Amino acid sequence: MSTSPVASWLELSARAYATNVATFRAVTAPSRIGAVLKGNAYGHGLLETLSLAHGEIDVFYVITPAEALAIRAWEHQNKRAHAEVLVIGAVNAEDCVELARQHVSVVAAARGFSDTVNALRTAGVQLEVHVHLDTGLGREGFTAAGLRAGEADFFALAQDVITVKGVLSHFANTEDVTEQDYARTQLANFEAGIRVLQTRAGVSGDVQRHFAASAAALVLPPSRLDVVRVGISMYGLWPSAETRLSARVVLGSLPALEPVLSWKVPSQVVKWLPAGSYVGYGCTYRCAADTRVAVLPVGYWDGYPRLASGKAHVLVHGKRCPVIGRVMMNHLIVDVTHATKDDQPVIATLLGRDGEEHVSVETISTWAQTIHYETLTRLGPHLRRVVVQDSP
Ligand SMILES: *Cc1c(COP(=O)(O)O)cnc(C)c1O
Repeated sequence: MSTSPVASWLELSARAYATNVATFRAVTAPSRIGAVLKGNAYGHGLLETLSLAHGEIDVFYVITPAEALAIRAWEHQNKRAHAEVLVIGAVNAEDCVELARQHVSVVAAARGFSDTVNALRTAGVQLEVHVHLDTGLGREGFTAAGLRAGEADFFALAQDVITVKGVLSHFANTEDVTEQDYARTQLANFEAGIRVLQTRAGVSGDVQRHFAASAAALVLPPSRLDVVRVGISMYGLWPSAETRLSARVVLGSLPALEPVLSWKVPSQVVKWLPAGSYVGYGCTYRCAADTRVAVLPVGYWDGYPRLASGKAHVLVHGKRCPVIGRVMMNHLIVDVTHATKDDQPVIATLLGRDGEEHVSVETISTWAQTIHYETLTRLGPHLRRVVVQDSP
């Protein structure tokens, strides 16, 4: 039986991840370092990323209770100590009881926690909560005005089962700009909200404060506070071109960020198509000359964007090979006429480096008219993810 791969796979570089952690430790010290593992760890794979991050990262942030419980199960299986884990997404009363038992903290972001308080009392468990303040994003969270108008009283009344361990907020406009004026307004609103929590809900003055995602952690030092919540940049990517520009100015030099992910696929078929042949659905491409093609068993089902049709290239033997015709559900067809010397099977790099050439997530995202955050999180959860050491 053959064991050669017949499907695409993702590679995570342990070395690149360690570089990014070290970069954030150096840049944002003395703040603690949090890693955001939502969206299947930005497509990298929750547990595969956890295997690189556990023991190196101070706090983990996830959206769903299921993700938090998966972290606890992994720790149990691998005999590792409990890391600090915070569910930043929506939770219900039942989730909260289970999370309290597993020593996972949750975010309180709106009124309507009374079911949870009742459930916690019945179960006899104590829940650690971080209060989310809406300081100008218009998404989840209490406003300082709402807290002042009475919403803060809830936390005072539920102290028997709820401990307010932290206060957080999230920036609306740090990535698309090089001036951080709106972010500074949000920081001021944050401090106002915390003052109300202190006076109206008995929240302690040294409650854990956290606000900054990747961009703010890099370019807005006053936002770093007690912990930074780093998502995209822990995977080695800049949040935006503007953030990269700002970082050079604010930090004096560009900190090292190394992309963690590569995506590779073995060819299913390599063959010649005679001049005049059509390629793919809709016959959108026609070979001008005899063309050696590689059929790659990967497509938009796996997360390779269909909008990249007609623009994309992959790398074979260190050479760019155009994707010809449309991206299909389970197939790509690429022109390898000049990349290979014979009709032997090839391994194509969809994302990452091959020799002198490199395809970045940003490049694929530009082809697909979207942002790298979306391209990453659309990588299929079914794809095999392997950690490689990737020696320097
Ligand atoms: C997604 C998210 C982050 C991380 O954002 P990046 O730009 O990927 O660093 C941080 N905090 C919250 C609340 C988030 O939703």
